[in-house]
Amino acid sequence: MNDCLFCKIAKGEIPSDVVFEDDDVKIFKDIHPKAPIHYLIIPKAHIQSIAHLEADHNDIIAKLIYAAKREAEKAGLKGYKLSFNVGKEGGQEVDHLHLHVLGGW
Ligand code: AMP
Ligand code: ZN
Repeated sequence: MNDCLFCKIAKGEIPSDVVFEDDDVKIFKDIHPKAPIHYLIIPKAHIQSIAHLEADHNDIIAKLIYAAKREAEKAGLKGYKLSFNVGKEGGQEVDHLHLHVLGGW
């Protein structure tokens, strides 16, 4: 997916405010935060959306959610919202799976 914004962010070809990164996931700050803390958690491999999941994606989805829990704890959040927008009709603007972490109100 050469023209995918979040693939480029995953590879570091487009700069982002990185919170955490390993071989499988990257966490960076949303450029237009909708909460005092607004992280995006992406798989480094391109998956378009939750609607495009296949059974062998189970491990990466678990990793995204565990990373959200871990980074929310690190940020000192007592409570937070996790959301996936799915498809244009679900408010998804970037067609690379991402988990929003919102908190700090
Ligand atoms: P969604 O509407 O679920 O597709 O969310 C996409 C999110 O990506 C929005 O909250 C945008 O503010 C955010 N976003 C778009 N471009 C960038 C970027 N270059 N760096 C960080 N966040 C971005
Ligand atoms: Zn992508």
